[in-house]
Amino acid sequence: MLAGAVEQFRPGEKRCRRDKHQCICDRLMSESRTAAAFGINLPVYHSFSYGLDSDCQARIGQRYRLPFGNDFKIGILVELGAATAPEQTLKSAAEAIDNEATLSPHLIELATWLADYYCQPIGEVLFQFLPRYLRGRQPLKSVALESWTASPTADVDLEQLQRRAPRQYELLIHLRQHATGLTPGELRAIHPQWRTPMRTLHQRGLVTCTLCDPVSLQALDRDQPPELSQEQAGVVEGMSAELDGFHVHLLQGITGSGKTEVYLAAMQTVIERGGQVLYLVPEIGLTPQLFNRVQRRLGAVVVASHSAQTDYQRFQAWEQFRRGAAAVMLGTRSALLSDAPRLQLIVVDEEHDASYRQQDGVRYHARDVAIKRAQMLDLPVVLGSATPSTETLFNLARPHYRHHRLTRRPGTAQPPHLQLIDSSRVEMDHGCTPQLLQAIQQEVQRGGQVLLFLNRRGYAPVVMCHACGWQSVCHQCDARLTLHQSMQRLICHHCGYSEIVPDTCPQCGNADIHHHGVGTEKLQHFMQRRFESTPVVRIDRDSVSDARQMERLLQPVQAGEPCILIGTQMLAKGHDYPNITLAGIIDVDQALYSGFYRASERLAQIVVQVAGRTGRAERSGRALLQTAFPDHPLMQGLLQQDYEQLVDLIMQERRLVGFPPYLRAITITADAVTLDAAMQRLQTLRSVLVDAGIGADVQVIGPIPALMTRRVGRYRAQFSLLAADMRKLRRALALLLPGIQGASGGKRVKLVVEVDPIDL
Ligand code: ADP
Ligand code: ZN
Ligand code: ZN
Repeated sequence: MLAGAVEQFRPGEKRCRRDKHQCICDRLMSESRTAAAFGINLPVYHSFSYGLDSDCQARIGQRYRLPFGNDFKIGILVELGAATAPEQTLKSAAEAIDNEATLSPHLIELATWLADYYCQPIGEVLFQFLPRYLRGRQPLKSVALESWTASPTADVDLEQLQRRAPRQYELLIHLRQHATGLTPGELRAIHPQWRTPMRTLHQRGLVTCTLCDPVSLQALDRDQPPELSQEQAGVVEGMSAELDGFHVHLLQGITGSGKTEVYLAAMQTVIERGGQVLYLVPEIGLTPQLFNRVQRRLGAVVVASHSAQTDYQRFQAWEQFRRGAAAVMLGTRSALLSDAPRLQLIVVDEEHDASYRQQDGVRYHARDVAIKRAQMLDLPVVLGSATPSTETLFNLARPHYRHHRLTRRPGTAQPPHLQLIDSSRVEMDHGCTPQLLQAIQQEVQRGGQVLLFLNRRGYAPVVMCHACGWQSVCHQCDARLTLHQSMQRLICHHCGYSEIVPDTCPQCGNADIHHHGVGTEKLQHFMQRRFESTPVVRIDRDSVSDARQMERLLQPVQAGEPCILIGTQMLAKGHDYPNITLAGIIDVDQALYSGFYRASERLAQIVVQVAGRTGRAERSGRALLQTAFPDHPLMQGLLQQDYEQLVDLIMQERRLVGFPPYLRAITITADAVTLDAAMQRLQTLRSVLVDAGIGADVQVIGPIPALMTRRVGRYRAQFSLLAADMRKLRRALALLLPGIQGASGGKRVKLVVEVDPIDL
């Protein structure tokens, strides 16, 4: 392909005449050129062709500076020899940024698959595979770390230094205490602005700096693993037998059954034979504890990648894994897209977790891409969960899937007792039934810990005027504004719009504005008033921004002190609360009348997870569920605490109405300044399907206005394609591609395609 596409230039045409950019035109062209396709970070579905001197050492996956309009853009070389226009008419790619490929051929192949399968712009997809640090012109560089030490010979009057330059003094004292040296990260912890005083110390010859490979900075002592239970040992043995070649191992184990120990054993096997491991956890699941546990147990170099890190830290981790210097990459969703020369295992913990689905920008599901990647490289994947997703349970019927179970907790810990409280006939106080309040009272008096789960943040979801009926609604969305009392603001949870809480009704001037409903903030105030001497901790998106902060807030809980812990679904992730012996689930009924087809699956997962994280030690836990529908089959199923029975129930429902996983789905959402424009655009697309006679085996639903039609000032409509067979869906999608990818409709209507969407 490459040789055939190389065009010879006639001697007289050595200079490029078409290009209007001086910097390029004035360059002499070499004898022959090759066309090359580049992915550019733009929302378009094609790559861009440029000319490359064919004697240059171009590599697939290399980054180039490309002339683009009046400017330059970064492009990733994806193909050599393919051109959309004759080579001599192509602009020349300006220059390579690095001497080597940034993305390996495997990642280019995976990116191409992802872009095609999820119908996403190829350039944007490719850039997802680069750490943010490399998305601009920054060249690849060595990730050696600075290590600062105090010069042993230097003499200094410490007293004087302390008086005159306290920051220099502080740094020097720390360095003298750490003979092996301190890294920039450690120095930053001592003093955020450590650079300036350190420079002075360096000029005075009091300290030295060496560059060292971060690998050598890691302590590689190993902790002894616990003796595996019989059940764990059985699973490890079964899994080890199939740790080469493509297999999907589902590890379904109740919370606290020791799944992590099983992952660690599998990772150990792979690392001992020189392999590398990708270990994915949900966004809030990556705690320093987990990192230390993995590193200390495996005695191997582990790098972490998560959103609380700086761009440079993420690049460092990415680069060490790519160079093969780190054996394990422990990270959240996007860590899956990192390169590894000897990848031999992918672990996806809490595989049911929604944070694996990217909901904006490039839409993909990291668990599913992990499985695809494993298939391409012929290696095993371990999916772990106490509450596997319906998709994964459905896929168990496929030949390369294996099902492993852990049904018991090691040691004496008992599963919790569940109890329903009928909330339909009693008077509630701040969303709590008298029974629940009494149970909390008892637990607190005993010096115990209580967990209250409420999936609604803020103070109150409704603010209204009783005189005229005014309600606080968002002017950009079809949604109410939630009252956040600590901030004294009304906030839209969909677009982030916020305003000051008005003193009087904006419509009639009435001074008496009321709020209704209970959010976590109000519940916290209520509990604090009622149980004055007990600390009340709140965990939600307003109080916690990352895993570290969450850990800080949870300190009293971990320490076993008496307390009341209130939180949203964030509580159901990653952490164990061994001393909590009472869990109250405030409102489960939301899920029964939600428009979200996965609501009951989510509810089942959250209840099983929240209840399962309590009462781990000697004392067993108790969970109370408040519901106005205690006889509903879902509630009865929850009561039995049999997740599989619940899933059976949910699956029956899905089969009956024809929803995933029985049918596969693709949704197309149009977003425009009027609902009409959005609907029109989708009607046009739909007519393509009707004209082509699609309909027998692909179900087309809509277009209809989306569940929340107006959002951030724009109107949304959508239609869904459903079929039992993904290939049939893709055939239908192929018919739509020209209409989706073309410019028709212009910028005023934006289309978003979602393959295997989370919602319909
Ligand atoms: P899961 O991931 O299934 O919720 P973990 O792997 O985190 O569970 O284990 C739960 C707790 O049990 C941890 O504190 C872990 O150290 C402990 N544990 C796991 N396996 C064993 C074992 N075989 N012996 C003793 N303790 C264990
Ligand atoms: Zn009013
Ligand atoms: Zn809004």
